[in-house]
Amino acid sequence: MLAKWLDNPSLSNLPHGTGVWQYIFTKHYQILKVNKKSKKGLISALDQFTKAAEALMDGVVALNENNEIIWSNRKSQIMLNLNSRKDTGQPINYIFRNTDLIKYLEQENYEESIKVSLDTQTDKVIEIKIIPFGEKQKVMIAKDISQSIKIESERKEFISNVSHELKTPLTVISGFIETLENMFTPKNTEHKNILKTMSGQANRMSKLIDDLLTLSNVESSLFQNRSEKLIINTIITKLKKNISILNNKGHKIKYRIDVKPNIYGSKKEIESAFLNLITNAIRYTERNGLISISWGLINGLPIFEVKDTGSGIEQKHINRITERFYRVDADRSRSTGGTGLGLSIVKNIINQHDGELKITSEVGEGSSFKLIFNKESVI
Ligand code: ADP
Repeated sequence: MLAKWLDNPSLSNLPHGTGVWQYIFTKHYQILKVNKKSKKGLISALDQFTKAAEALMDGVVALNENNEIIWSNRKSQIMLNLNSRKDTGQPINYIFRNTDLIKYLEQENYEESIKVSLDTQTDKVIEIKIIPFGEKQKVMIAKDISQSIKIESERKEFISNVSHELKTPLTVISGFIETLENMFTPKNTEHKNILKTMSGQANRMSKLIDDLLTLSNVESSLFQNRSEKLIINTIITKLKKNISILNNKGHKIKYRIDVKPNIYGSKKEIESAFLNLITNAIRYTERNGLISISWGLINGLPIFEVKDTGSGIEQKHINRITERFYRVDADRSRSTGGTGLGLSIVKNIINQHDGELKITSEVGEGSSFKLIFNKESVI
């Protein structure tokens, strides 16, 4: 009887028995009931988990250790063009073919997310982040960021257009101010002073527009060739002449420039970044200070450093001075001809070269600004 029931065990047809058989059947009945309850609980938990994952705004794909799809929610299926029935069990990079995703999966460093664009819809940009869990399993989160990328690029284009539009009228105004300045004789000192102020302000605006245009060019990276072969030693030798003209405060400028390494990059941008840092060191250091400029390999990384003995920067400002128009002391910045965009330009340039800007400073002692390039940029 027991053997027959075990072929098709269910609660409804559990046989009755007497003596030891009754005990066996009752035990079986209890075990079956507990199993049924926990199965129901599991199914309900799984159902709730699936519903929660489906309600997410992001695409979610669970992958096993071979990067094969275990499960995916509907959002991810739409976003990445996956077919839940056909593609489950297939390697994700087989179904969603993208070289950046393949590299991301191979290098197994998932701290940062990656942005990928779809071949089928070029205006779609998806941000992908992988979160490892359990035994080499992973959850892949996919977010459609096309809209925010579009808004950001419209904002940049707007700034670039406004700057271009302002440039022409400003050139005309500056030209007329210059003509008027030449027309007045030294006797009209009051008029002459007014014109001098006008000319100073026009120059400031012109510098601001130039910096805004530089920033938008660096950001758009449209016209930049960042694989030029740069002989840094030659670049710095060329800049030395400019630097000695800019050094109007009697600073001692010390150079320690190694002949190697040379790197790949954009000559125009690198010159601009170097000069920006040196100009700042000159501007923010009291008269007769010491400015040390160096270039060389440190721990295998090419590093350009400008060190000064200037006023220094309080720790709380250090993270913010690379933001546009962030100044520790706005009056000092303006009176020395600053636009508040210099470090923002430098940071953008080094980022575009896959490097990093590192700032250390001690109030009253001085500051150090390092441009750290990556190993791959060495020629
Ligand atoms: P600015 O045109 O105001 O100099 P930057 O973007 O070049 O704009 O610099 C932002 C701010 O960082 C400056 O206003 C200044 O407060 C601070 N700063 C930059 N370089 C130095 C430096 N070498 N020493 C001290 N402060 C500095």
